[in-house]
Amino acid sequence: MLERKTGIPLAPQELDKQKITSDIYTVQHSVVGQDAHTAYTSWVITEDGVVIIDPGSYRVCTMLREEMDKAGQPVRYLIYTHAHGDHIGGAAAFLEQEPKVIAHENALERLRRYEVTAGYIRRINSIQFHFNIPAGIPPRRFPSVHPTDTYHHEYRFELGGKTFELFHAKGETDDSTVIWVPQLKAVFLGDLLEASFPNLGNPFKVMRYAHEWAIALEKALALKPEFAIGGDCVLTNNREINEVLSVNIELFNYLEESVVRAANDGKNLEQMIEEIQLPPHLADSPYLKQVYSRREFAIYNIWRRYCGYFDFSPSGLLPRPRREVAGVVRQLIGNDQAILHRAEELMYQGQLQLALETLDVILKVDYEDMAARRLRHEILQKMAETDECLMSRNVWVYYLEEDESFLG
Ligand SMILES: [Zn+2]
Repeated sequence: MLERKTGIPLAPQELDKQKITSDIYTVQHSVVGQDAHTAYTSWVITEDGVVIIDPGSYRVCTMLREEMDKAGQPVRYLIYTHAHGDHIGGAAAFLEQEPKVIAHENALERLRRYEVTAGYIRRINSIQFHFNIPAGIPPRRFPSVHPTDTYHHEYRFELGGKTFELFHAKGETDDSTVIWVPQLKAVFLGDLLEASFPNLGNPFKVMRYAHEWAIALEKALALKPEFAIGGDCVLTNNREINEVLSVNIELFNYLEESVVRAANDGKNLEQMIEEIQLPPHLADSPYLKQVYSRREFAIYNIWRRYCGYFDFSPSGLLPRPRREVAGVVRQLIGNDQAILHRAEELMYQGQLQLALETLDVILKVDYEDMAARRLRHEILQKMAETDECLMSRNVWVYYLEEDESFLG
């Protein structure tokens, strides 16, 4: 595995590139300022110009274009492995040279969706990534560059003696493109390959595709690559590629099959979250550390794909607002001190989630209850301190900061 850097600045001063072969280079960059979530912009040099894969950061791409200009290397193609912002956000830096911009046809619908839900996306990304963007560097300075060429199943072109074979895949998104360069034995996988537990489920965002993801990685393995460039990691020999991709394939198949079997057996989502645990060799795999996404998010996601919202309890079909239900319980207890005391007890016993939900008996009715918010702040602080997963930790941090500003 290529050295994976940490502490990458949002606005680097120089192009910190890494050489993979004499024809392939990459630069790791950060668009959200978090070590658990970085991305690679890579490029392949040919005799007739350069192909850039995932022009993700505008800052990095500007420096890259300057370097190409100096070296007299024209940029002929940009390829998006998928249309997430951290893989396309720097494309505008290359537009003067009028490169072909290639993406899967589903990228167009994705970009349209991002435009109509811009407010929502901005809000959830500020929670998910706990954005801390320095003044003067907005997360996106330009509207997205739309592809000039899209395709349905496959796309292929030659440039300067190298062949670029693209095929469609689904996994982290429905618009994934896998790029294979046979002369270099290099496969570019975008976020289909990450350095940790794959982003198979995201509590804020649309569907991910476990079943198809496994198929895409199997197809990539069958190519017998020597280099695999992912969204968050770069593998530089076939043995390692086999090891990492195989363990991911096993994880996707295991989770997919477990959730589908449980649904067929009449289990509900709550039971699945409790009962579907990873076998030890997957749970302990160094390639599947749950530092960005996590098991629970994956199970929610697969359930959401195949099942509806019904929880197999008649009260769950048309539930009253939780404010009303909590109101009844709170009135029955008739003693907020007892609720606070029990929540605190649970917190000290380490049952942080249960403590949080107990407090909701008050907070769902009165969100501005000072004592409950003070205790919630304490619970969330403990949750944030002990949670290794970026996406859930950032949720705790977001709301503990909200409590902080409310409490003054
Ligand atoms: Zn992505």
